[in-house]
Amino acid sequence: MTDASTIPERAVADRLGRPLRDLRLSVTDRCNLRCTYCMPEADYEWLPRAELLDFDELTSLVDAFTAVGVEKVRITGGEPLLRRDLPELIARIAALPAIDDLALTTNGTLLAGAASALRAAGLGRVTISLDTLDPARHHALTGRDNHADVLAGIEATAAAGFTGTKINTVVLRGTNDDELADLVRFGAEHGAEVRFIEYMDVGGATRWDRSLVVPAVEVLDRLADGLGQIADATSRPSAPARRYRTADGTTFGIVASTTTPFCGSCDRSRVTADGRWYRCLYAVEGTDLRAPIRAGASPGELRDLLASVWSDRTDQGAVDRLALAEARTATPVEVTRRDPHREMHTRGG
Ligand code: SAM
Ligand code: SF4
Repeated sequence: MTDASTIPERAVADRLGRPLRDLRLSVTDRCNLRCTYCMPEADYEWLPRAELLDFDELTSLVDAFTAVGVEKVRITGGEPLLRRDLPELIARIAALPAIDDLALTTNGTLLAGAASALRAAGLGRVTISLDTLDPARHHALTGRDNHADVLAGIEATAAAGFTGTKINTVVLRGTNDDELADLVRFGAEHGAEVRFIEYMDVGGATRWDRSLVVPAVEVLDRLADGLGQIADATSRPSAPARRYRTADGTTFGIVASTTTPFCGSCDRSRVTADGRWYRCLYAVEGTDLRAPIRAGASPGELRDLLASVWSDRTDQGAVDRLALAEARTATPVEVTRRDPHREMHTRGG
């Protein structure tokens, strides 16, 4: 269900009545980690540098999106902190009057050195990905030996004065599903709310297998074993996570996109670093926004393009995947290699 009371008047609705409010903006497809659920392959095709949007182009694009209803922007990647001068882009987006929530999703490895500058630039919130509290497991999961850097990034986020910090944890059966309660406790100790995410069969997740998915109901059972009684907490109607509370008041969320899709209330869009717009994380086709921007489209022309494409949207990718039931499999590597825009690290999480 969409939270109608807070929809701005300028918001354009799609064919299923869903407004466009939330933009995930990928600023690079490059990453310094190789998480097994996202980038398990030995090599990748990168977006050509000349095709990446510069800060003027990215800011104009976000501005055009605000004209059709976007008020929340999440900067993502790849690893967004690999994008040079990111605080400058943050400052420019934060200055757009319609933006009321500006967040960043990062793997945290470079955050310790950047948190203060990001805060000073006007970033509102930070989400840090942390799948394990064990450095050796982190190494096995990401291919890199930098767990301590991620922990330092989490500390630096709090020290820089950020509130509303979240930790994203992808739950993988047999890998980190014995650490869930510890992660909730760790989050509470560090002023961050954990979001457990079901392993998704998005493009790029070429090692996905249904047997590795730990469904939300099972995550909850495991947490009840470790943390005691769990009750519902308030969740924003269009938010992907359903939130819960333990007896001591600690809150956490579960994003059950694989087993319990929330497409009916999806108000999100994704734009890749080279300006390809996807109306759904699972969408095969995107709209090229770089060409009109580089051809000098006016703000009004961009707005009309966004409004016409969004108003025709019918995507319910996660619902469609669920309907495949037993036939559901990972996207073959030949497909993601042919079209790098299918990759999770290209279109952002
Ligand atoms: N590199 C940054 C990071 O890891 O936070 C930002 C980009 S990453 C693609 C965004 C989010 O997507 C991360 O929290 C990551 O854990 C999540 N993610 C990546 N692949 C996933 C998958 N197959 N299933 C569920 N979540 C996934
Ligand atoms: Fe991991 Fe994020 Fe990099 Fe993907 S983009 S490999 S989730 S750090």
